[in-house]
Amino acid sequence: MTTWKENMQDTDHWLAGLLVREHQEYPVDPYVLVYPDEKYRGIWHLCFNVYQGSCSTWMHLIEGEEKALLIDTGYGIGDLEGLVSKLTDKPLLVANTHFHGDHSAGNGQFEEVYCHEYDVPYLKEQMEKGEGRLFPPVDFYRQEDIVPFSSYQVIGLKNGDFLNLGEGDRIEVIHMPGHTSGGCMFLDHKTHLLFSGDAVLATPTLIIERFPNPFYAEYMTVTAFRDTLSKFCGRLHEVEAIYPGHGRQGIDNSYLTDMLACLDAIIDDPEEFEEYDYVDDPGQRQIKCVGKAMVVYSSSRVNP
Ligand SMILES: [Zn+2]
Repeated sequence: MTTWKENMQDTDHWLAGLLVREHQEYPVDPYVLVYPDEKYRGIWHLCFNVYQGSCSTWMHLIEGEEKALLIDTGYGIGDLEGLVSKLTDKPLLVANTHFHGDHSAGNGQFEEVYCHEYDVPYLKEQMEKGEGRLFPPVDFYRQEDIVPFSSYQVIGLKNGDFLNLGEGDRIEVIHMPGHTSGGCMFLDHKTHLLFSGDAVLATPTLIIERFPNPFYAEYMTVTAFRDTLSKFCGRLHEVEAIYPGHGRQGIDNSYLTDMLACLDAIIDDPEEFEEYDYVDDPGQRQIKCVGKAMVVYSSSRVNP
């Protein structure tokens, strides 16, 4: 079996154990499974659970001394705001790892949302046109639980900015383009947990033509991802564990170096890839895998 299939099986196996792992459920939002962090009090990993690993997205809640931060808002199905208020009573900041509709469609439940400045025009366009939603398979939610799109304020972040949750509680914004132009990761300087969105995860990172790129297109490339990640890899010692937007949680920091090697391999020879047949989708056919890292890409998205 090729390595990428082994990697996918590992993640599927881990996800199959989700419901037996210790978690909490709250009637206010029956879609979300709440996993208190096993090591750090005041951190919760929130899974939108559709019983299909690759369709569930993860959100994360970090409670600091003075404020709390919600990272991503999922599909916009169910009362996420109500759920978060059961977990923390601190004033809440909300931020997106990137603009895609499986991570941002619940934004309208909140007044203000932060995201990297290069994804701001994408979020604004979604808000204006009411487009860009993604939905899990229809059997897994009730129509009446869809939160309608409503407007909210979007605040742009730059690489190296901090979201301050109180004395010594700083969350650093790390721009990590490729999957989207303004994709970013959030590094908690207190716990050294890295919330990586869809940039680095235990399932393939998608850099595909299907994702429209009208703004900052030069950042929606394998090359931009490689150049930015190679700088961050000098800071591996600052990362204790990685919590991505999909799939397995708490993965180790060697995923970052494997990802860098995988991106280098694509740039070296974009036309040498394996056939990705894990999903039946002609838009996702080319996969490169190095170690635990996997990238599904279109040849047109390698260089700007
Ligand atoms: Zn996603």
